[in-house]
Amino acid sequence: MTQMIIEGKSTDAASGREIDVVCPSDGQVFTTIPRGAAQDVDRAVKAARAALKGEWGALPAFERGRLLMKLSQKILAHHDELAEIEARDTGKPLTTARTDVTVLARYFEFYGGGADKVHGQTLPFLNGYSVQVVREPLGVTAHILPWNYPAQMFGRSVAPALAMGNAIVVKPAEDACLSVIRVAELALEVGFPAGALNIVTGLGEEAGAALARHPGINFISFTGSNEVGVMVQQAAALNAVKCTLELGGKSAHVVFEDADFERAAAAICRGIVQNTGQTCTAGSRVLVQKSAQDRFMKVLVAEFSKKTAGTPDMDLDCGPLINKTQFERVNGYVETGRKEGLSVVVEGQVADGVPPGGYFVRPMIFSAPRHESRLLTEEIFGPVLVTVPFETEAEAIELANATHYGLMAAVWSENGGRQQRVARAMEAGQVYINSFGAGGGVELPFGGVKRSGHGREKGFIAMEEMSTVKTIIHYHG
Ligand code: NAD
Repeated sequence: MTQMIIEGKSTDAASGREIDVVCPSDGQVFTTIPRGAAQDVDRAVKAARAALKGEWGALPAFERGRLLMKLSQKILAHHDELAEIEARDTGKPLTTARTDVTVLARYFEFYGGGADKVHGQTLPFLNGYSVQVVREPLGVTAHILPWNYPAQMFGRSVAPALAMGNAIVVKPAEDACLSVIRVAELALEVGFPAGALNIVTGLGEEAGAALARHPGINFISFTGSNEVGVMVQQAAALNAVKCTLELGGKSAHVVFEDADFERAAAAICRGIVQNTGQTCTAGSRVLVQKSAQDRFMKVLVAEFSKKTAGTPDMDLDCGPLINKTQFERVNGYVETGRKEGLSVVVEGQVADGVPPGGYFVRPMIFSAPRHESRLLTEEIFGPVLVTVPFETEAEAIELANATHYGLMAAVWSENGGRQQRVARAMEAGQVYINSFGAGGGVELPFGGVKRSGHGREKGFIAMEEMSTVKTIIHYHG
C-alpha cells in the first residue's frame, strides 16, 4: 500500500478506501493507493493555505530556488529507483523511464534557477507618483495530471508553481502516480516545509472534481483529455479562477518531396512509437507530397517494421498500453480503419515472451487515399500512424490544419522559404522544422491552440502563468 502526502505526512484516505494499481505488462494488481475524495482534498487545500501563511510563504525567492535545486539533485541521486517505479507503473521501457526521470530533475533545476530571476517593472506615470509592477504567487494552485508521463508532467506543472512561491495540491492520475508520490517524499527530505506540496490520490470524478471546484484554490493547471478539460474549466469558472488546459493532439508531419527522408522517417517513427503512442504530441498524421510518396513510404516502412513492443525489462521501442480501456480503444480504432477501407502499410512487432495478461498492441501504419477518416481527425493515443498524400503547399497547409486540435506540427523540407511559410501557417502551439521532439525541451514554451487547450507551460512563460502582477501606485508629491 502506498500512501499520499498531506501536510508533510504520508497518509491514507479519510474513508480508508483504496484503489488497486494494475501492472500494464501483465494485468495484475501489484499495490494500492488511497482513494482520496472531497474530505482529503479539503485537508490538502487548507494545509497549502497554512503553508503560504507560514514558513513556505516567508521564504525569499532564492531560498525557494535552492530547495528546488536540492530536489533536482535528490531526484538524480534516486534516478534508478524512480525509473524502475515509473517503468513498472506505466509499462514503459526502462530507457524511456530513465529519460523521463532525467527530464523531471531538469524541470526542478531550470525553475530552481529561475525562482529569483523574475523581476518587476517601474512605470512612468503622473508627476509625483512612482509605480511598481510586482509579480506575486497566485496562492494555492491545483495540478491535475495524466498517467502517460507522470514524472515529467509533475515536474512540468509543479516546478514553476513552486518556484513562484505558490503552495500546491496535486491530483495525479489513478492509473499511474507512484513516482509522483515518491518525489513528494524526497521533497520533504530535502526540506520543503509541510503543506507546500500536497498529493491527493484518487479517482478523477471524486478527488479530481473535488479539487477543481474547491473554493480555496486560486489556479488550476490541468493536463489530460479534452472532455475532462472542459469540465475542469467549467469548475474553475464557478470560483472565477484561471486555468491552463494542456489537452490532446493530432499533430501533423508535412513531408515535402525535397525532404531528407531518412531523417524524417526516423523522427516520425520514434515519435509515434514513443510511450506506445500515448503522447499528446505524438505526430500521428503524416502528409506526404504525392510526387515523392512511393520513395518516402519505402524509407518509412523499412524504419517502422523494426519497431517492437515489450516489457519494461526487455527495454525495446515501446511497452504495453496503460490499461484495458486504452487497449480496447486503440484496437477499436484499428478496426475502424480496416472497416473504412484504409490499407495497412506495415505492422511492427510484439516481442516473444511478453506475459499473457499485458495490454500489448503491434505498432501500425495505415495509408488513406484522402484526408477523410476518423483516424485522421481523432486522437487515438496508441502507436497508430496514418499517412495521406497532398499535391501542393497550399493543400498541405489546409490538411494539416483540418482537425480541431492544434498542439504541434512538423515541416520536412530543404527549401528555406517553404519551411517558414508552412511553419507560420500551422495552427499549432509548437512547430518543428526538420526535426521533431515529442514532449522535449524544458526551456521551450509549450501548449495548444484550438481544442488542444490554452495557456503555456515550460520555459520562463510558465512562471508568468503561475503568478499574478500587482501594480503599486505611490503618490509622494
Ligand atoms: P483524463 O482527462 O482522463 O485524466 C486526466 C486527469 O484528470 C486524471 O488525473 C484524472 O483522474 C482527472 N480527472 C478525470 N475526471 C475528472 C473530473 N471529472 N474532474 C477533475 N479531474 C478529473 O486524461 P488521461 O486519460 O489521464 O490522459 C490522456 C489525455 O491527456 C490525452 O488526451 C492526452 O493527449 C492528454 N495529454 C495532454 C498533454 C499536453 O501537454 N497537452 C500531456 C499529456 C497528456
